[in-house]
Amino acid sequence: MYYISTRNKSERVSGAQAVVQGIASDGGLYVPEQIPSVTKEELAALKAMEYPERAAFIIGKFLPELSDGLKDWCERAYSRFDGDPAPIVKADGKYFLELWHGPTHAFKDMALTLLPYLMTGSKKILNRTDKTLILVATSGDTGKAALEGFKDVEGTACAVFYPFGGVSNLQKLQMTTQRGGNVFVSAIKGNFDDAQTAVKKIFASQGVKDKLAEKGYNLSSANSINWGRLVPQIAYYFSAYVDLADSGEIEDGEEVVFTVPTGNFGNILAAYYAMKMGLPIKRLVCASNRNNVLTDFFESGTYDLKREFHKTISPSMDILISSNFERLIFETSGRNDKLTKQRMEKLATEGKYTVSDVEMKEIARTFAAYSADDEITKETIADFFDESGYVLDPHSAVAFDATMRFEEETGEERIVTVCTASPYKFAASVLEAIGETVPRDDGAALTKLEEETALPLPESLSELPSLKIRFGGCVDKDGIEQAVINSVIRE
Ligand SMILES: *Cc1c(COP(=O)(O)O)cnc(C)c1O
Repeated sequence: MYYISTRNKSERVSGAQAVVQGIASDGGLYVPEQIPSVTKEELAALKAMEYPERAAFIIGKFLPELSDGLKDWCERAYSRFDGDPAPIVKADGKYFLELWHGPTHAFKDMALTLLPYLMTGSKKILNRTDKTLILVATSGDTGKAALEGFKDVEGTACAVFYPFGGVSNLQKLQMTTQRGGNVFVSAIKGNFDDAQTAVKKIFASQGVKDKLAEKGYNLSSANSINWGRLVPQIAYYFSAYVDLADSGEIEDGEEVVFTVPTGNFGNILAAYYAMKMGLPIKRLVCASNRNNVLTDFFESGTYDLKREFHKTISPSMDILISSNFERLIFETSGRNDKLTKQRMEKLATEGKYTVSDVEMKEIARTFAAYSADDEITKETIADFFDESGYVLDPHSAVAFDATMRFEEETGEERIVTVCTASPYKFAASVLEAIGETVPRDDGAALTKLEEETALPLPESLSELPSLKIRFGGCVDKDGIEQAVINSVIRE
């Protein structure tokens, strides 16, 4: 199977190359030349499999050259999860797909525990002996998950930049206390979009690449611009569907709706590809916080960046430039690379672009969109906790609010809300939402949330306040280039 760039279809590379490179040389994103399909028989056969085997099956459709290793890698990656990596939980008659049982307690682990194996395996196929520097811009959760995934993995290093003041206390502690000999973390002055733009610039800079090459490093990405990050995410939509069918909650072949709390549009795009592969999905509900650039797009057909950036209690969704939206626009334009390139250039220069009515029709058939501000998010957490005892983190609560609104408008009942983080990662906001006073001390906040909710507190979070800070630094946008180069010279 080959991969093409969303901005130039004649740039065609193997899957292994797409994973190692991360982003196309023209700044476009790699997509598979053909989208593979899954038959009804194959879907039925998934029922008898455990999660790692299901994931290996789906990923193998996209990266057949890695098939030999996949099952073993998936088993190793998902053994780092606490029990089932992607359980469907039913509370008060509603379905929740919990994707936060991995080592860093956010859904990013679903892909980032596996990506190091995909990367290392791909390099082997390509006979590459250079080392890989994984460069990450994070709105909070990708950074930690990438650090845990790549920590002390031979032939790799990992450098992470997060927006100063733009992540929760616990997210910050998770990153600044990171262990491992091949890791580097720094804050960057600005918001997530600034961090992501600075990182994308480095990917495009031959000067930086040359300097890294002198040290024996090539550059790759663990952000969802990398196809290797997206493809493991497609697997859990299949797994969730199969679990619902297997437990008799739905009939085989019955269509379901997924509601996805959305930032960079990676998670929901994986659901879109699952649908294109033949998974019976009726609609995808895109849930945003107050940074509602996508909600407005789905309403108007115009992607318009020119608006205020808001810090919210769901910081991993505080994003205005949703990178993966480029892949959707490419697909729904009939895979028009020239048009996609034009639109992305327009976004960079004018801050907006508009798609055609024909495209919007197709998009509206597939997607619905809602946004919730912090007040609504907190109310949702409080109300559902009162009603059912189920605790939502703020990101999952943004999604659950969208689920309820979609249900009200359409009468749809088979809706799965995708839950992306453990409530403990956002302990202070969750405590506040359920009407508790928030202890100033992070450790005390965790313990208090455990007392209030009886949700088991993971040790990897409770130990954080007692760990030594290893990476307390902060750079400005112009300093990021030097920081990246220094991060590998240091070794
Ligand atoms: C990353 C993240 C999101 C947004 O996911 P995208 O794939 O970027 O749309 C939502 N919730 C949490 C907790 C996250 O970490």
